[in-house]
Amino acid sequence: MTETQKHAAAFRQIIKDKKQFLLLTHLDPDGDALGSACGLAYILKKMKKQVVIGLCESLPVRYEFLNRDESLRFLQHERINLSKYDAIIVLDASTPARLDKFENQIKSLGSEVCLVNIDHHGDNSRFGTLNIVDTDSASASQMIIELLGARALDVNSAWCLYAGIVHDTGSFRHGVNIKRAHEAAIHCLVFPVDSKQVYNRLFSLETEVALRLFSRALSRLNVAERGRIVYMYLVDEDYREFKAEPDAATGFVNRLVMLEGAEIVLFFNEAESNIIKVSLRSNIEFSVGDFASMFGGGGHVRAAGCRIEGIMEKVIERMVKALRLSLEIHDRRNEAKGQG
Ligand code: AMP
Ligand code: MN
Ligand code: MN
Repeated sequence: MTETQKHAAAFRQIIKDKKQFLLLTHLDPDGDALGSACGLAYILKKMKKQVVIGLCESLPVRYEFLNRDESLRFLQHERINLSKYDAIIVLDASTPARLDKFENQIKSLGSEVCLVNIDHHGDNSRFGTLNIVDTDSASASQMIIELLGARALDVNSAWCLYAGIVHDTGSFRHGVNIKRAHEAAIHCLVFPVDSKQVYNRLFSLETEVALRLFSRALSRLNVAERGRIVYMYLVDEDYREFKAEPDAATGFVNRLVMLEGAEIVLFFNEAESNIIKVSLRSNIEFSVGDFASMFGGGGHVRAAGCRIEGIMEKVIERMVKALRLSLEIHDRRNEAKGQG
């Protein structure tokens, strides 16, 4: 048996044996975080299991479409007692720190508690009792399909898991092993999944407020290193002025990636006063995940993030300076490789 087959067997055994499941995912959940959690929740429900999805904040409106028949149960942190569940499954989160309010409780669990960690991040700390980490998978949602097989799916889980794959691959444009991502997605499209609707829900700017906010961010477009580094920012006053929700800027960074010549793209977003969430994207073989880890964050080669406390101007200055240096090192390594 290969390692992958062993993992799949162990995971299948757990979901067969246990009855009450708690599913958790990372802070500021994205389309893969919630797609994988909701998709797995529908699979478990189909198996007549009890399942709750634990969140730190309420479900973002953008992702309400994943709760297709409104039968999924979401509970906020304060209302969850971890010891009530037979198994806890953590999706798309590389470390307990990514679980925000659940971090300390997860860290203090005894080794007798069944804690499954399903993830595709390279910096995963293997904090579960069963760790299924596949860095060759483009999303956690894809992993659920591969681990449980196409036969586990129904129309609801197919919608959610397809959405997770579409999210993390930027609609099949990037990500590792894109062939595998397509192969998993095709299992979902056997069902009547409306791929156009999924795309629009995930990536379209559908509200006037979001468009105005995007226009504000664009008005602050900056380029450095002759266009190789591109960045923009929003401050908390912008949110107040437009009466925008904290998640209104979801996906803004992905629109900058299209700029010709842009190699590294950054979006500095002051969602809370003096807490700056930085989203990074890379168009080259420069790992923004490794770069973000120098600032306490993480992610993948092409997409990463971190949270920095401080004043916007100072944070931007510090990060762009560090990025210039890292790019210089990257260039030198590439030159050396070319010569060698
Ligand atoms: P985002 O820019 O929020 O879409 O995040 C892009 C990628 O970076 C995701 O795959 C996340 O897993 C990762 N990421 C975002 N923020 C953080 C953070 N504060 N710490 C570690 N990883 C992060
Ligand atoms: Mn994610
Ligand atoms: Mn993911």
